[in-house]
Formats: sequence, structure tokens, C-alpha cells
Amino acid sequence: MSTKPVTDTAPVNLLDFDPAGLAQQVQQWGGKPFRARQLLRWIHQRGTDSFDDMTDLARDFRALLSEHCVIQAPKVSAEHLSSDGTRKWLFDVDPNNAVETVFIPEDDRGTLCISSQAGCTVACPFCSTGYQGFNRNLSTAEIIGQLWYAERVLRTQPETARIGGGLPDGDARRRVISNVVMMGMGEPLLNYDRVLAALRLMVDDNAYGLSRRRVTVSTSGVVPMIDRLARDCPVALAVSLHAPNDTLRDKLVPLNRKYPLAELLEACNRYLEHAPRDFITFEYIMLDGVNDSDDHARELIGIARQVRSKFNLIPFNPFPQSGLKRSSATRVRSFAQRLMDAGIVTTVRKTRGDDIAAACGQLAGDVKDRTRIDQRLPDRAVIAINQERG
Ligand code: SAH
Ligand code: SF4
Repeated sequence: MSTKPVTDTAPVNLLDFDPAGLAQQVQQWGGKPFRARQLLRWIHQRGTDSFDDMTDLARDFRALLSEHCVIQAPKVSAEHLSSDGTRKWLFDVDPNNAVETVFIPEDDRGTLCISSQAGCTVACPFCSTGYQGFNRNLSTAEIIGQLWYAERVLRTQPETARIGGGLPDGDARRRVISNVVMMGMGEPLLNYDRVLAALRLMVDDNAYGLSRRRVTVSTSGVVPMIDRLARDCPVALAVSLHAPNDTLRDKLVPLNRKYPLAELLEACNRYLEHAPRDFITFEYIMLDGVNDSDDHARELIGIARQVRSKFNLIPFNPFPQSGLKRSSATRVRSFAQRLMDAGIVTTVRKTRGDDIAAACGQLAGDVKDRTRIDQRLPDRAVIAINQERG
């Protein structure tokens, strides 16, 4: 193996490479493809960050890696544990930005909710991430680093280590996190290349080995990127619908002005030809007096009939600046019933982690220097978690 210097400047963060990228890099260093697979397993399967521990790699290769590379997730500045077992981490991605990640344990699985951007340009009025504006895209290392870090920590905790069933104790492939949802801060399909690299790591057998059905991208409807995702890495897709017609959706999800409902629904149908599940999950936030009437339900049924889909109704989690209110529980129930009476599979999202502000809703993180609004939100952050069964 050659000992060519990797770079003269900053160390290379190996969390930034997807499997093909790492293979290419290793090849440039004179290594064979199986070396890249070994490295991938050390980093992502075992969660190792020390090259000295990678005992089956040649000594000179390890020396080269130690000199020029790091394995570095973003720094955690706070961790909260809810009474229901939900955990939330605040990652400082740089001195001006922090993003949040939430872990939701259940008996048969563990779900991690990941952020893709610091802030969001889509600016939906019911979302505190959107409210605070946009600062920057996260790098691949910052996105996959959330999973790398969470899995590594959770494995060592007695209360979560048991979740990773299916494989014997001590098996490096045994995972606490069985499901990943891209439902944290940001619009994943507006940070496409980095999110794609992270998704490729999630589903690679030498990295996280997650089933494509258990990795969900949630999008506000970036039509061209839905098509690209179908080709590049088809995982489960959730679409944030929130309104049954263009007039209302233009207001609730401003991206609708660019990609209106008819185009979005066609993209969903194209996606289904490649999707690992045979339905799209439509997310629908329940806003009192805004999108929750019987007429809205009727219109929505018309939409549901155009795409093989399931509905996930999300009770709105208010934040002070939104001026919006959550629909009553009775309204949510009767709305859900109308959809179900029309034969549409409908669930109402459960709220988890209320006591640590990690339940569905307002993901604030801490985004400074943002472009849209320079007024700081309180340091509360609540995140939307898809409770759909894996
Ligand atoms: N940008 C992507 C993914 C992140 S938002 C998207 O919009 O799909 C993830 C989910 O959280 C979306 O369905 C979003 O509508 C929902 N959400 C945002 N703010 C919320 C709030 N205040 N209460 C409940 N759910 C909210
Ligand atoms: Fe962005 Fe999604 Fe929030 Fe809309 S709901 S502002 S798309 S993060």
C-alpha cells in the first residue's frame, strides 16, 4: 500500500464518504476494494473512531489513515432523556449552528430522527425550523454522524442495548437503531447529494445494513428530486401534504407554488414503481380551522384515490410565533374516521418525548445568522417523528 499523502491541509473526515466514494479514495491510496469494505465495517458497523483498533488493516495503511484522516461526528452539546425513554441530542455542527436528533425506543424497534439542514428554506408557517430561516446544508459527515454517534452511544446503555434483537450479543451487525426517518430539521431533498450519500451508507450491508423499507425520507415535495431518489436510492417515502388543494397548500407549504399538487401526485406514482413499499405515506398536520374540516377530508379522499397511500395525521405542536392552533382530539378522530370510511389506511401520530420537548413538532435547534428572521427562538426544540410501523 502506498503512503501518498492524502492532503496537505485539513484531515479528511472518513464519515464524509459513501461506500463508492470510500472505495475510490482507498484505491487512490493504492488499496484494494476489500480494504475499503473493511474500513467501512470498522467505521460504521463497529462504530470505531481509532485507527489503532482496526487490527485487520495493514500497519502502514493504518499509519497513513492516522496521519491524514479522522472519523468525527459533530460535537454533542446537550442530551435529554424523556421519562418515556425518548432521547434527544443537540449537535453543534459549527459555532453558529446546532441541529437536533431524536431517538424513539419501542419494544420491537428503535427509530432515529435525523436532521439534514441547519434551518430550512421552505418556510412552512407551522414549522419552527421553517420559521427560523435557513443557514446551511449539513455535510454527509454531519448527517451520517448523527446515526454513527447515536448507535455507538445506545449500544452501551443497558436500557436500549436490548432493542437490537435478531442477532446474538457481540455480533457487530447487531443494531439498536432499526429505523431512520429524515424528519428532523431541514428539507432532505434540497440537500440532495449529501443526503443521498448518507442514505447509501444506511442501506449498505457493510455499513448500517438497514432495510430500505425502514429508512424514510420525508419531503415537502421537491418533485425533480423525488424522481432522482427513485433512481439513486429508493427508500420509503413520506410526503408532507398538509392541504387537499393548491390554494391552501400554497400557503401551508410554500414550495407548492413551484411544484403544485398535480405534479407532486404524478411524481408519487412514478416513485411507487421503484419504492420498497407499495404505498406513499402522506403526512397531514391537523391545524384548527385551517385544514381540518369535513370538506377538507372529502377533498383529501379524492387525492388519496390518485396514489396508493396511507395517511398519517399529525396533531400540530404549537410554537409561540406560529399563531396556529392544534385541532381538537374529537376533530382529529372524526377527520380520521372519514378517511377510514373511504377505505384509506389512516393513523394518528403518537406524541413521544413531551417532557424533553422532543415530541412531534417544533424543531428549533439553534441556527444563528439565518437569512430570513434574525429573532432567536427559545431553546426549545420539538421534532416530528413518524410512528408508522416498520
Ligand atoms: N422538510 C421535510 C422533513 C422535515 S419536517 C418535510 O417537511 O417533510 C418533518 C415533519 O414534521 C413534516 O411532516 C412536518 O410537516 C412536520 N412538522 C413540522 N412542524 C410541525 C409542528 N409544529 N407540529 C407537528 N408537526 C410538524
Ligand atoms: Fe422545512 Fe419541512 Fe419545516 Fe416545511 S415542515 S419548513 S419543509 S422542515
